[in-house]
Amino acid sequence: MAGTDSPRARDEALSRALERRRKAGLYRRPRVVDAGFEAPWQMVDGRRCIGFSSNDYLGLARDPRIADVLAQAAGRWGTGSGAAHLAGGHTREHEALEETLAEWTGRPRALLFSTGYMANLGALTALVGRTDLILEDRLNHASLIDAARLTGATVRRYAHGDPAALRRRLEAAGQSRSFVVTDGVFSMDGDVAPVTEIASVCAEHDACLIVDDAHGLGVIGPDGQGATAGIAPAQVPVLVGTLGKALGGFGAFVAGSEPLVETLIQRARSWIYTTAPPPAVAAAVREAVNIARTEDWRRERLSDHIGHFRRSAASLGLNLAPSDTPIQPVILGSARAAVTASEALFEAGLWVPAIRPPTVPEGSARLRVSLSAAHADADVERLLDALSGLGPMTAGS
Ligand SMILES: *Cc1c(COP(=O)(O)O)cnc(C)c1O
Repeated sequence: MAGTDSPRARDEALSRALERRRKAGLYRRPRVVDAGFEAPWQMVDGRRCIGFSSNDYLGLARDPRIADVLAQAAGRWGTGSGAAHLAGGHTREHEALEETLAEWTGRPRALLFSTGYMANLGALTALVGRTDLILEDRLNHASLIDAARLTGATVRRYAHGDPAALRRRLEAAGQSRSFVVTDGVFSMDGDVAPVTEIASVCAEHDACLIVDDAHGLGVIGPDGQGATAGIAPAQVPVLVGTLGKALGGFGAFVAGSEPLVETLIQRARSWIYTTAPPPAVAAAVREAVNIARTEDWRRERLSDHIGHFRRSAASLGLNLAPSDTPIQPVILGSARAAVTASEALFEAGLWVPAIRPPTVPEGSARLRVSLSAAHADADVERLLDALSGLGPMTAGS
């Protein structure tokens, strides 16, 4: 008998759900990018355009020096690591990258993960038990929310970027052991967490602070040390960074004390039960870290673009968010408005993604403009021209 869960009925139910999503302006699909253009130019879905979507803030993802290191290391090491870290996949290249990352972040140790998503899952599940409390900023990245759920601990959110709200949560917590988790730079809003204030609230309440600086590392602070630069490492005992954004490569890490990293090695299942990243990628990322640390002109150029974009966008009456980082959201409100604006920009040769719920809260759909040191002044100017041409679509709503 063909029941309601026959393969055909299942596909029909999926199709109906997809159709509802499409009607709500929430349907997602990846655009296809082709090679052969110098950053920030891209061939996207067959159209040549200037990219404002990448997290490649320093313009390192297509740096020929790093690509050379990758190619040479691939010649020596081959394409894959062949195994998990504990099963023979941990090479001299992984070890060297971990040492470089520890030194850069001023921590005794760093442990390399395959992705930031996995680093967050691994760190939280290894450290937090069911009887503990996790407090998360309301706008934290999805991987931090998923990681907290996986621990089985009690999870509460506190008001975005608000140390006083965090303090009230901790006071209400009573005796439980607490962990406080925040993005360093918020991925869809671009603002920087008040890490110094959050760290002192954590110190008052003996809470362990975990900062995920996926968008700050390489981009802000002296030598690109990120949102925690200048804060004593003991105040931020668990620091997560990613290597696929400003560093233009792939992978992630958790940095902290010797016992912290040893604990992750014993307990972080997303590190233990997965293939180590390709050694050639580790070699390339190490080169990227050295470039990111030393080439200050990239951060200076980025900062010029940010200032220029914000001043001009404000004078056009665009609804910007309070961000001083390369992530510059233009808030439009409805998902449909964001998609329409993104498509109009795409027609004009500018690739600026629309970000919709559930990635951002309902009613705050936006264009997420991402600036890079790879942009020329003229690229930013062209984007501003196109945004002003969208007229009423982007002027508040
Ligand atoms: C992108 C991002 C991640 C995930 O990192 P991947 O290496 O892309 O998996 C984690 N946390 C934050 C805050 C991010 O923005």
